[in-house]
Amino acid sequence: MEDLATRSYWLGLDAYEPGPPLNGDMDADVAIIGGGFTGLWTAYHLLKADPGLTVVVLESSAVGYGASGRNGGFAMPLVHRSLQSLVDNLGHERARAVHHGAEEAVQTLQSVCAEENIDADLMPNGLLTVSNTPLQDEHIRLEAKVAAELGIEGVRVLDKDEIQARVHSETFRGALEEDACVLVNPARLVRGLKEAVIRAGGRVFEQTPMEELSRSGDGVVVRTPGGSIRARRALLAANAYSASFPELSDRVTPFYSYILLSEPLTDEQWGRIGWEGREGMEDRRTFLHYFRPTIDGRIMWAGRDAPYRPDGPDPKYDRDDRVFNRLQKTFEWTFPQLSDLKFEYRWGGPVGVTATFLPAAGWLKGNRIAYAFGYNGHGVAITCLLGKCVRDLLLERDTDLTRLALVGRKPPSLGPRLVRDRIVQAQTDFQIRQDDAGRELKPSLFVRLTEKIFGGF
Ligand SMILES: Cc1cc2nc3c(=O)[nH]c(=O)nc-3n(C[C@H](O)[C@H](O)[C@H](O)COP(=O)(O)OP(=O)(O)OC[C@H]3O[C@@H](n4cnc5c(N)ncnc54)[C@H](O)[C@@H]3O)c2cc1C
Repeated sequence: MEDLATRSYWLGLDAYEPGPPLNGDMDADVAIIGGGFTGLWTAYHLLKADPGLTVVVLESSAVGYGASGRNGGFAMPLVHRSLQSLVDNLGHERARAVHHGAEEAVQTLQSVCAEENIDADLMPNGLLTVSNTPLQDEHIRLEAKVAAELGIEGVRVLDKDEIQARVHSETFRGALEEDACVLVNPARLVRGLKEAVIRAGGRVFEQTPMEELSRSGDGVVVRTPGGSIRARRALLAANAYSASFPELSDRVTPFYSYILLSEPLTDEQWGRIGWEGREGMEDRRTFLHYFRPTIDGRIMWAGRDAPYRPDGPDPKYDRDDRVFNRLQKTFEWTFPQLSDLKFEYRWGGPVGVTATFLPAAGWLKGNRIAYAFGYNGHGVAITCLLGKCVRDLLLERDTDLTRLALVGRKPPSLGPRLVRDRIVQAQTDFQIRQDDAGRELKPSLFVRLTEKIFGGF
């Protein structure tokens, strides 16, 4: 599968041979469709809770082929756009519980890597969210205030001198520093999780697309080209790809995010920008930039535009020169002292977006098929949290996790495709223009009306 290595720098870094497809018919307790972080975390948590279960993961390509092998590798507790928007959506108590679960997920990710000997190049260096505009200054101050109200520790505001002393860019006006962020190599993490699932007794079939999923008797049947699985329960763990399942087609929609990765910097080049703490970094645009160092001394520069791809995910969207060019420009604007730095890799991948901008886990009608999706571009750690929630749902346990606000409520419908495409595209373009102008989102009457009907993006 040579194509795999070209989908991201991470996926091509190590030689990888996908496992064999399903060949024949079998029975299972749980069949999981999708071999990304959601599917593999759920399988892992299930098998650790009950080693006697038969758990089977089906992946149409190779584990990590989707977003899980292509992302920026920021494992952080962010759910929704910010703590403030999480509180706006859920209220203080429910937001606190969700954030707490997300912080635990960041810790679980690190402890599982240690216990299972997964070498995912962890860099537990925290996150710096920088401000580029007066509006972003306000958002950073507000975020620190909300963190204090929620009792979240390890969060502090840096003024202009402090952030510019740490990472040298004239464009940084201030920053929020958060300890709870770990940078990972996502392909090593997802492949390490696959091995951990197999060691725990699970089966992972790659090159095995689910062609049909149907309810049958008191269970389900999953059909694939080479065989079928009769299971008591199934989990749809296909995130941005979920839009192709009829029961979820109007609940999640694909956007794309794109990444540039530089050649390794020399010590002299690193000296020009500082960044000695090697933290993950973001700005506070709604369509944000996210950027980080890698363990082999490169800089990843990503985000900014997140094009809506209603007919995706599709390999034809994996590259977009327009976005790559715009990213190159904003990098040069931020770090003009690195104008000699070359970008060696460029790629993109699908992000599953919901109307509420919240991820969701629960049951489809009849409590035989569970779902978990909709990380809105923030799933590296949150998939681990939703994997624990789904474990408890599948084991029919009533726990704090199954009572989280992310569980048991299917995200609202995004509306019919024809209308949705126009509205979402208009909203996306409008938001990017507001971001570029450093302005607060003051939606037109049209946008506010459509937000009321279909939910906000
Ligand atoms: C460019 C980019 C950068 C990102 N950066 C970050 C970041 O820094 N931090 C962060 O927290 N999040 C980030 N994300 C989001 C994060 O990667 C995702 O939220 C997360 O990986 C979702 O995992 P998943 O397992 O739910 O979905 P996926 O990883 O997309 O896995 C779904 C899998 O299902 C498979 N599949 C689909 N249909 C079928 C079928 N019919 N049968 C069998 N298998 C099927 C697909 O092949 C795919 O492998 C980023 C995403 C992208 C694209």
